[in-house]
Amino acid sequence: MTTHDGQQDLPQGTANSIVPGTLYIVPTPIGNLDDITTRALKVLEGADWIAAEDTRHTNKLLQHYHIKTRTMSLHDHNEDKRAAMLVHRLQDGASVALVSDAGTPLISDPGFVLVRKCRENNINVVPLPGACAAITALSAAGLPTDRFVFEGFLPAKSQARTNQLKLLAERSCTTVFYEAPRRIVDTVSDIREILGAQRQLVMAKELTKTFERFISGTPDEVLAWLNENNAHQKGEFVLMVAGIQPTSTALPADALALLQELAEVLPLKKAAAIVASHCNLKKNALYQAGLSFTQEK
Ligand code: SAM
Repeated sequence: MTTHDGQQDLPQGTANSIVPGTLYIVPTPIGNLDDITTRALKVLEGADWIAAEDTRHTNKLLQHYHIKTRTMSLHDHNEDKRAAMLVHRLQDGASVALVSDAGTPLISDPGFVLVRKCRENNINVVPLPGACAAITALSAAGLPTDRFVFEGFLPAKSQARTNQLKLLAERSCTTVFYEAPRRIVDTVSDIREILGAQRQLVMAKELTKTFERFISGTPDEVLAWLNENNAHQKGEFVLMVAGIQPTSTALPADALALLQELAEVLPLKKAAAIVASHCNLKKNALYQAGLSFTQEK
């Protein structure tokens, strides 16, 4: 809807002014301090309180932007208590901005208990779009993004991690993980063990920072890079695993071999059409299978 002065008529809470009694979910940078929106800065400046995962960490960001709003902590160990207290303040008309140490709150970060309590109490919750390591990584990985599953962190214990990986072995869409530096080698090794040595991975490291890197390949290739230099295992990682290509396994091996050969010299569409008529197979199934060859190159 557009008003007579040409401005978009936004629903309550999405306009630029701070609305009393509202909880704002505010993403913060995942490395590069410039990756924060103008609106996020306005909300951090204008809110009565900032609830932060680690107030010392957030204060560095606030100092950088000369923001003087009062902060209070809200982390995994005090969230129940803090959420109850914040709901009372919000009901009394205070506005609160929720931030985590980096990226979008609630995405592998605290905030769920507070948001749920606010929803239960009909408190206005307004999300701001912004930095998120999973989406940033996925947008540049070169893996299919039409469907993906975000798994967060895999369990730390080996058996639980193995069980979790077994559950996603047959998935055809891209899977996105967060991983800590101390476990990155073990996790890639487990992926090799459970999902197979041919599975394609993309590891995004130190996104938005000076040493940002994307490493693509099989688990062995990614492991070789990690083991090449101790520094390669330090930093922050998003790990993305390609889904399986179910169509390729159902096709005869000789047809696939012919397709692969033709796809070297012809556009994939044309190669798939020739093999389809020659072997009496479906053109689209061959085309989909061919995509996996071209991705593997
Ligand atoms: N809420 C955050 C978000 O929206 O992305 C995620 C918080 S989670 C506690 C931290 C994990 O996110 C890291 O261990 C790493 O897997 C990933 N991560 C955060 N910043 C990153 C970066 N700059 N580069 C790569 N991965 C990052």
